Amino acid sequence: MNDSSDTRCLWLALAAYLVVFAAKLSAYFATGVVALLAESLHTLNDIFISGFLLVAAVCSRKQADASHMCSATGGRRTWRR
Ligand SMILES: [Zn+2]
Repeated sequence: MNDSSDTRCLWLALAAYLVVFAAKLSAYFATGVVALLAESLHTLNDIFISGFLLVAAVCSRKQADASHMCSATGGRRTWRR
C-alpha cells in the first residue's frame, strides 16, 4: 500500500464513521434508546482514532531528520541516528 492509498483509505473510513455517527445519533433522538447514544459515542471515539491515524500517516511521509526520527517514505521505514 503506497502513501496516497494509505491516506485515501483513512479518509474513506473517516467519512464512513461520520455517516454512521450521524445515523446512530439521529436514531437515538428519534427513539430515545440510550444504547444508541452509547453506540454513537463509541463511533465518535472511532472518528478520533481515525483522525489520529490520518495525522500519523501524513507525518510519516516526511523524510527522517533531526526532529523527525522515523520516516516511512517509499514503503519502508528509516531511522535517523
Ligand atoms: Zn469501534
